[in-house]
Amino acid sequence: MRHVIIGSGPAGVVAAETLRKDDPAAEITMLCGEGEPPYARMAIPYLLKGDIDEAGTYIRKDPRHYERLRISLVQARAQAVNTSARTVDIGNGRPLSFDRLLIATGSRPSRERIPGIDLPGVRTCWTLDDARAILANARPGTRIVQMGAGFVGCIIMEGLLSRGVDLTILVRSGYMVRRMMNPTASGLIQQWCEAKGVKILTRTQPKGLGLNGDALRVDLGEGRSLLADIYLSVVGVDPNLDFLSGSGIEIGQGVIVDANLQSNVPGVYAAGDVAESANVLTAKRDLNAIQPNAVEQGRIAALNMAGRPVRFKGGFVFNVLTTLGLASSSFGEWQGVPGGESAEVLDASRYRYLNLQFDGDRLVGANCVGFSEHIGALRGLIEGRLRLGIWKRRLMDDPAQVMPAYLSAASAV
Ligand SMILES: Cc1cc2nc3c(=O)[nH]c(=O)nc-3n(C[C@H](O)[C@H](O)[C@H](O)COP(=O)(O)OP(=O)(O)OC[C@H]3O[C@@H](n4cnc5c(N)ncnc54)[C@H](O)[C@@H]3O)c2cc1C
Repeated sequence: MRHVIIGSGPAGVVAAETLRKDDPAAEITMLCGEGEPPYARMAIPYLLKGDIDEAGTYIRKDPRHYERLRISLVQARAQAVNTSARTVDIGNGRPLSFDRLLIATGSRPSRERIPGIDLPGVRTCWTLDDARAILANARPGTRIVQMGAGFVGCIIMEGLLSRGVDLTILVRSGYMVRRMMNPTASGLIQQWCEAKGVKILTRTQPKGLGLNGDALRVDLGEGRSLLADIYLSVVGVDPNLDFLSGSGIEIGQGVIVDANLQSNVPGVYAAGDVAESANVLTAKRDLNAIQPNAVEQGRIAALNMAGRPVRFKGGFVFNVLTTLGLASSSFGEWQGVPGGESAEVLDASRYRYLNLQFDGDRLVGANCVGFSEHIGALRGLIEGRLRLGIWKRRLMDDPAQVMPAYLSAASAV
C-alpha cells in the first residue's frame, strides 16, 4: 500500500506516525512544502520571544525519527493531483503514485489587496522563514505597523514587544479578535495591550504602502500616515487548495470530507486546517484552523487510510489565546443561539470576564478573559453537550460556578 501525505505540519506528521503503527508494511511518503523539517507553527511565538531556538519548533526532536519509522520525507510542493492516474505531480517530471492520499496542506496567510503590498519590509508571520526575517530585523526601537489583531496577530505581540520594538496595531473593525470574542472581551484585551504600550488604531485600514527613504509609509487615508520599518500583514488565513483545481476533488471553503475524513474521491482524505468537516455542535461543515483539530483529524484520517473505519466525532471550535500574558478563550457558539439565554460576570479592573451562552439547559458557548482556571470545565460542558439541570439557574445567577456545574453534570451522565 502506497500512502502519500501532502503537508508536514501536525496533521501530516501524526497521520504518518499513525499509518506506520497500523500498517507496518506500507510505503509512506510525506511532502514537506517549505524546505524545512516538519515543524509546528504554534511554536513560532516562543521562537520570537527567544524561549526556544528553531529546533524547538520541530514536531519531533530526534533528527532520525522519520527515518526510523521509514517515513520518507520529500522536500517538494504538490503542483497537481491526478485522481484518475492516482498520482501527485511534484514538478520534477516524476509524479508520485499513491493508493491512498492525504491532503494536509494547512492554510496560508490571506493577502491584503493594497498597493505596495509587495514592497521589501512587508512581512507576515506564518512560517519559520517569516520568523527568521522578523528576528533579523526587529530591534529595540524598530517601528512595526501590524495590520490585523486576530488570533495570530495577538499571540505574536509578546514576542515582538520582547524585542523592544515600537508596535502599532491597525484593526479594520472596531474590535480585536472579533472572530472569537464579543465586544466586552475584546475591549478588555485592547485595554490590556494599551496598558503595555501597544498603540491600537481601530476602524483603520491602510489604503496603500509606499517608500519614504528607507522606511515604509503606511497611508491611512484622509492625509494620515505612519512610518514603519516593518509592515506585518496578519489579516486571516485561507486553506492551501490551489493545486487541487481540476482534480475532481470537491472543494467548498476547504476540502469537503465525510465522517471518515474521506473526500468525494475514494481513497483521498483531508485533515487539519485544509479540511471542511462537520462541527460537533451545529452539524454544519466548517474549517477549524487550530492545532488540536489538525492532530485529531490526522490520526483519524490515517486509521481510515490503513483500512480501520473510524468516524471523526466532529470538530469543536475553541480558541485559547494569550495576549501579552492575558489569557482569554472562546468556545462553541460564543455569540449565542436564537432563543438562547446568557449570563456574564465582569471585573474590568482585574481584567476578568466570563460570558456564558445557553440553549435550554445546555451550555453552548462561552467567552472568558482571565478565567483560565475554567477552561477544562467549560470545554467539557460545551463539547459534551451535558445537561445542566438545576445548575442552569445557578450558573445564570453566578457564572463563575462552572467547575461544580461541570462535576455535577458529568457525574450524572
Ligand atoms: C504564529 C502562529 C501561532 C499559532 N498558535 C496556535 C495556538 O496557540 N494554538 C493552536 O491551536 N493553533 C495555533 N496556530 C494554528 C496552527 O498552527 C494550525 O492550526 C496548525 O498548524 C494546522 O496544522 P496543519 O497540519 O493542518 O497545517 P500546517 O501546520 O499549516 O501544515 C501544512 C503543511 O503543508 C505544507 N504545504 C502546503 N501546501 C503544500 C503543497 N502544495 N505541497 C506540499 N506541501 C504543502 C506546508 O508547507 C506545511 O508543511 C498558530 C499558527 C501560527 C501561524
